[in-house]
Amino acid sequence: MLNPDFPFSYDHYLAHPAGLGSVPPELYGTEVAVVGAGLSGLVTAYELMKLGLRPVVYEADQIGGRLRTAGFPSAPGVVADLGGMRFPVSGRAFYHYVDLLGLETQDFPNPLAPVTSSTVIELAGQKYYAETAQDLPPFFREVADAWKAAVNDGAKFVEMQEAIRARDTGRIKELWNGLLPLMDEQTFYGFIAGSESFKEAGFAHREAFGQVGFGTGGWDTDFPNSILEILRVVYTDADDQHRLISGGAQRLPEALWQHAPSGMAHWPDGTSLASLHSGSPRGAVGSISRDADGGLRIRERWSREASYAAVVTTCQSWLLSTRIHTEEALFPAELWTAIERSHYMQSSKTFVMVDRPFWKDVDPDTGREVLSMTLTDRLNRATYLLDDGPDKPAVILLSYTWNDDALKWLALDADERVELMLHSLEQIYPGVDIASHIVGQPITVSWEADPNFMGAFKANLPGHYRYQQRLFTHFKQDKLPDTQRGIFLAGDDVSFTAGWAEGAVTTGLNAVWGVVNHLGGSSAPGNPGPGELLDAIGPIPLD
Ligand code: FAD
Repeated sequence: MLNPDFPFSYDHYLAHPAGLGSVPPELYGTEVAVVGAGLSGLVTAYELMKLGLRPVVYEADQIGGRLRTAGFPSAPGVVADLGGMRFPVSGRAFYHYVDLLGLETQDFPNPLAPVTSSTVIELAGQKYYAETAQDLPPFFREVADAWKAAVNDGAKFVEMQEAIRARDTGRIKELWNGLLPLMDEQTFYGFIAGSESFKEAGFAHREAFGQVGFGTGGWDTDFPNSILEILRVVYTDADDQHRLISGGAQRLPEALWQHAPSGMAHWPDGTSLASLHSGSPRGAVGSISRDADGGLRIRERWSREASYAAVVTTCQSWLLSTRIHTEEALFPAELWTAIERSHYMQSSKTFVMVDRPFWKDVDPDTGREVLSMTLTDRLNRATYLLDDGPDKPAVILLSYTWNDDALKWLALDADERVELMLHSLEQIYPGVDIASHIVGQPITVSWEADPNFMGAFKANLPGHYRYQQRLFTHFKQDKLPDTQRGIFLAGDDVSFTAGWAEGAVTTGLNAVWGVVNHLGGSSAPGNPGPGELLDAIGPIPLD
């Protein structure tokens, strides 16, 4: 996911034998606070530990954050990924840690993916069955062609992908810096509707594009967002070639917490984040302020206090104004504006466990499997079928929705959600008795209703590029007054690819660079860090 805003090769940076840098030995053991034990916080803490610092991780709820995996209590090992569940192979910084920790991955059964035996698209009551994209009627090919033409004509898609594949930083920046001012104030829908190809194709094609979209399915709930957000996804193949983590996505943050790397500066072999914390992170952060002596003071919700030379916050950044009392003087006013104006998507998922992957039963009349991965314009929007082999309980993600579609479920409890979802599926698959296969309790989540997140993930609205640029570049603090140094923002909403775990990893690495620099350390010789290259290839300011 070599991002056009900052095409820094984080995978090369991480793989470099010289490592990420060093701090002066007299600083070994210095405590640095890390707020949040999601992926970003744990990558940050893990790398700080390797450099000989002592990360102190704070967490309000569970280790893992939005990489949260829930289990079905009656069937140990059968799991549901409530947040991140499918990870593009282009996210190479993310996979650096997956590989390091020896986690197994498998292809994710997206619509029409090779691993998905069949997909059903149901729009306006009309049902289309496909094993490959070629099985769909020509209309869908026209929709796909109109999208390809729109991004080629309007956003230099092929040229950008070629430049990204070649890691041609100069060319990426040249293309992107030309597009930014033209695109920042345009919505995704405005871009589609204004394109020659979709104008020619007509409304039905635009509508179907919104419903079935590209890659993972329909993206019409993103229509009001800035087109820049969508371009970043498609340029970097974030919506393609997804893999899941066997046993659940939460295994990644949990493994980072437990892992004891060898050859660390200062810490003996066998030291892990878990051992440095005696097994549990500290509690929820209630406030962050500046001490009289210049330190950064953290007060926990249940009153314990400590002061640090540096703090990294990785929770959704607007929690810094809504849930954590953060002293206003710690950030410049324009950064607060960026934090406050953030736009987060809502998202809901509802899972049921079933006795076995019965959808693989073949209907004798049609010769097809009785149930398929399903995209529909009904409330469910997308239904995924997840199994781990025959004769074992399996999982149906009955509905995965975003934004307005997620809000439609918000007020309903799990059983009410399941009833409505099953009703929709009965219309698409008459005669298939899904309910009779359900075992255990359904699991449902609405991320916007959880006070430790208050939203699923960020998606910028038109005109928000300037805000994102401020948030992303804040880790390089040489132009800030001393009173605003030492506190760093990380987490996927600080990245240019919110909603993808890769952004959580890479902004964590930016924060590590920031902390090392702040404490008087430096990058490793021959392996310049993100801060060294930010001015040369970083996101440009707009007027
Ligand atoms: P978080 O995981 O949010 O971690 C922040 C942590 O801070 C949390 O654990 C929180 O409890 C904690 N916290 C909050 N307040 C406080 C406080 N006061 N004190 C201490 N701790 C606090 N990414 C993909 O790559 N692929 C996907 O398929 C995908 N799908 C997604 C689907 C959904 C529904 C959601 C919600 C996200 C999805 N993502 C996906 C995004 C991915 O989950 C995130 O990018 C990643 O998990 C974010 O990690 P983070 O560490 O930045 O933030």
